[in-house]
Parts: sequence; structure tokens; C-alpha cells
Amino acid sequence: VKKLAKQHSKQAHEINEAAVLGAGIMGGGIAYQAASKGLPIIMKDIKSEQLDLGMGEASKLLGKMVDRGKMTPAKMGETLSRIRPTLNYGDFAETDIVIEAVVENPNVKRAVLKEVEGLVKDDCILASNTSTISITFLAEALERPENFVGMHFFNPVNRMPLVEVIRGEKSSEEAISTTVALATKMGKVPVVVNDCPGFLVNRVLFPYFGAFDLLLKQGADFVHVDKVMEKFGWPMGPAYLIDVVGLDTGVHGAEVMAEGFPDRMKPDYKGAIELLYENKRLGQKNGVGFYKYE
Ligand code: NAD
Repeated sequence: VKKLAKQHSKQAHEINEAAVLGAGIMGGGIAYQAASKGLPIIMKDIKSEQLDLGMGEASKLLGKMVDRGKMTPAKMGETLSRIRPTLNYGDFAETDIVIEAVVENPNVKRAVLKEVEGLVKDDCILASNTSTISITFLAEALERPENFVGMHFFNPVNRMPLVEVIRGEKSSEEAISTTVALATKMGKVPVVVNDCPGFLVNRVLFPYFGAFDLLLKQGADFVHVDKVMEKFGWPMGPAYLIDVVGLDTGVHGAEVMAEGFPDRMKPDYKGAIELLYENKRLGQKNGVGFYKYE
């Protein structure tokens, strides 16, 4: 990490303030992570209840550290005050990087990125936390595609070390370097990857979900599969994992992967994940997916 950070440090812009679009599972986690590493961050959503959820989650994580004696209540207050929740774009003129973490829908993302590009300063970096959508494709909506990269965090952001920094066709070296530097500053392990649907990790993970779906179609019991995969040594099985990710994000990501790799990732059946999603079982985010949550 040190070597990669050093390699990129010369071309990196200084980041003194960041912004994140979306205060969901990922946006809230990104805001928490930035704030806990000393970086002020604006967190914008279109729903005030999502902002409350994002702030609530950050308070919960910090509160646990106070309970364990790892942080003083004063430090907790200071950290929380670095996150500025908002429903409007008021303060975006000064921000050095905007990380987009809205729903996994190409049209929504392109519209949001285009909108924010018109509000920020010319050298502001725009980064997308998309799980699967090509960065080059999203960049087509922008006037300054050279300032645009992928910055793909994993869930839960505070615990998962990896960040994929995705190089779109037109991403500049400065934008890549700045994003690598930011990921390092946020305490993460960046890896620079080329652009394609799913990048690196999700090109491995989505076929795994596809194989799990097929097992269910053939009659397997998801609780049994989860238990077996845990005994195999993975931290959680596929049903629990998709509940953590969100069934909506999983289905939207699977659609992007099927379009990108029709010969390998297009299932010829309607799987359990899609059926649960259609029945509004979104996973932990709304209390019920494969499992029920209190
Ligand atoms: P989520 O459903 O929890 O949150 C999405 C948020 O975006 C919601 O709060 C919604 O109100 C908000 N939003 C929608 N339109 C908006 C707009 N125009 N402006 C501002 N906010 C808007 O979803 P999530 O799981 O946080 O996923 C967000 C992104 O991160 C997706 O692209 C997803 O693929 C990616 N991602 C998700 C995971 C995961 O495990 N959930 C992991 C890595 C990356």
C-alpha cells in the first residue's frame, strides 16, 4: 500500500473536503469512514429519513468505540460533526471530490453525475461507487470525463479493507492518483483496476451468486448452503451475504453483468434472488430478505 501510495502521491490533488451522494448502506459508511479519518464530508440524499439513517449508523459505530473505551465522547462529537447531512447541493462549490453512491441504476447515476458536474469546481474529481456499471459508459454523460473514476468500496465500509480504483477510458492519471491517495488516507487498501462491468471483485462474486441461485432452483436449502459455506471457512454464506448487500442492488448488478457478459452471466431461469426482490424482500435494509431481521 505504501509503495502504491508513494507512486501516486506526486500527481494527487490535495483533498480537504469530500462529498458523498446517497446516504444509504454505502454512502453512510463512506461518510463515517471519511469522518473517522479526519476528513470533513458532505452527505447528500433526496430523502431525509435516509440522512437520519446514515447519521444514526455513524453514531452507533462511534458509540460502540466509546463504550469500549477506545474513544472519548468529545472525540465522538468531533467526528460526527465532520459529516454534514443535506438535502440540497448548497455547499458543493468547494468540495475536492464527490463520491456518487446512489442506487445501482445507470440512468439515475448518469443524471446525478451530470447534475453535480455543473455545480462543482472544474478540477473536482467525480467518483462512482458503482458495483458493476462501466466507468467509461457513465463518463459519456460528462463534460470532463478525465476527472471521473470508479471508487468502489465494499460493505460494510468500516470493516472491508479493499477499494477498487477504476480507470475509465478517459480517466486522467491525476484523477486516479488522487483517488488512490484518498483511499489510503481513509485507511483502505486501494487496487487500480481496468474498466469492465463488475471490475475485478464482482466478476468473481456475481458468478458465485448465480451458482447459488441455480443450486436453489435445483432444490437446495439456502440455510444449509450458508452453513456449509461457513464451515468451508467463508465469513458468511451466499444467502446472508446477499441480504447484507441488498437484494435490489444484487438484482440490478446482475442485470448489468448479464448485459456485459451475455454468454457467461445470463441465467436462463428466474432465480430466488429475483423473486425475493419482486416481493420487496430487500434484505437487512428493510428487515427481510432470505432471513428476517429484528
Ligand atoms: P441503498 O439503497 O442503501 O442507498 C441508495 C441511496 O441513494 C438511498 O439513500 C437513496 O435515497 C439515495 N438516492 C437515490 N437517488 C439519489 C439522488 N438523486 N441523489 C442523492 N441520493 C439519492 O444502496 P447502497 O447499497 O448504498 O448502494 C449504493 C451504491 O453503492 C450502488 O451503486 C451499489 O451498487 C454500490 N455498492 C453497494 C454495495 C452493497 O453491498 N450494498 C457494495 C459496494 C457498492
